[in-house]
Amino acid sequence: MSSLQNYLNKSLETIKKANWYRYEKTISGLSGSLVEIERNWLVNFASNDYLGLASDKRVITGALEAIQKYGTGSTGSRLLTGHRPLHHQLEEALAQWKGTENALVFSSGYQANIGTISALVGKKDLILGDEYNHSSLKNGGKLSQAHCIDYAHSNCRDLVNLLTQHRHNFRHCLITTDTVFSMDGDIAPLTPLLDIANYFDCWLLVDEAHATGVLGVTGAGCVEHFQMKGDNLIQIGTLSKAIGSLGGYVTGSNLLMEFLRNRCPTWIYTTALSPGDTGAALTAVEIIPSALPLRQQLWDNINHFKKLAKMHHIDFMDSDSAILCLKTPDAETALGLAQKLNSAGFFVPAIRPPTVPSSRLRFSLMANHTQEDLTSLMKVISGDK
Ligand SMILES: *Cc1c(COP(=O)(O)O)cnc(C)c1O
Repeated sequence: MSSLQNYLNKSLETIKKANWYRYEKTISGLSGSLVEIERNWLVNFASNDYLGLASDKRVITGALEAIQKYGTGSTGSRLLTGHRPLHHQLEEALAQWKGTENALVFSSGYQANIGTISALVGKKDLILGDEYNHSSLKNGGKLSQAHCIDYAHSNCRDLVNLLTQHRHNFRHCLITTDTVFSMDGDIAPLTPLLDIANYFDCWLLVDEAHATGVLGVTGAGCVEHFQMKGDNLIQIGTLSKAIGSLGGYVTGSNLLMEFLRNRCPTWIYTTALSPGDTGAALTAVEIIPSALPLRQQLWDNINHFKKLAKMHHIDFMDSDSAILCLKTPDAETALGLAQKLNSAGFFVPAIRPPTVPSSRLRFSLMANHTQEDLTSLMKVISGDK
């Protein structure tokens, strides 16, 4: 065996011993609130498609029409042959929805984060990020070569202490945070964070991946929910969760987009978002703001879920979003409970280190879950079925 094969084998053995081993499950057909996995039909509590738009007929038609008109591939980067009228339309629709001057779409949310962060800050600069931030925010910091420090989760006092200690040693300072934390479901203290950013002359970059389509009066996210404003505020998000397509975006000032179009490597040196993905996203972005009943249905499910949990005395982690987590003592217990739920007809992922510091079951709710889905799920969890 070569040293490569030997290394791979040993690493995988360690991963398996710790119960951290993962593999992909195949979903056949549409991925709605009910999915077929390996010939079993399961109620899906693992999807990011909060509003069910990934299998919505109107969104599918949006993708098909775009493909018929522009083809399957965008054939080049945005600055060369990849730009279509659809990209401009999507960016205008996003900017209008998010209440900003302008927007820029990327091939994924991950690329939007790493590209924007590494374009904006460098060696002379400081990044202060929440310790629970998404991998893309953390790796964006590393790629930028800025000095990165994590502050304690949602802890403004820790952030202020770090700024008092370090801010004056650096040229620019970027504060980064998820708005809804992806593996916990809680919301960052966004209004104080913006005040702190203003006081210490910092820029605030917020990742709305799990808030877009879920929070805010028109579903635009936490920035809308908390009515945050400022030209030092940069909003990032994904087209692949509640928007039901694929891709990412940045919204903010005209100047910011002009700068990114000239400086952001993950936007300049990669193929433009495909016509199908762009058409689907544009349709969804046109649907969501006026789809109050659909968003209300999601929140009715979230509130019903919490009420049932309370009734059964099951302690979920604090959450203000569609993500609800149940902590377990270890990875083995999380896997066991996920297996039990699977046998009872529910698909719920066990989230384990290294994704999170402590193991948990993570339930994502969808607008198209029924109240009966939630009732029977809770019965299995509480063990009185
Ligand atoms: C999913 C996610 C991303 C990445 O978005 P993709 O479009 O899937 O690459 C970024 N940030 C957060 C917080 C996420 O949950």
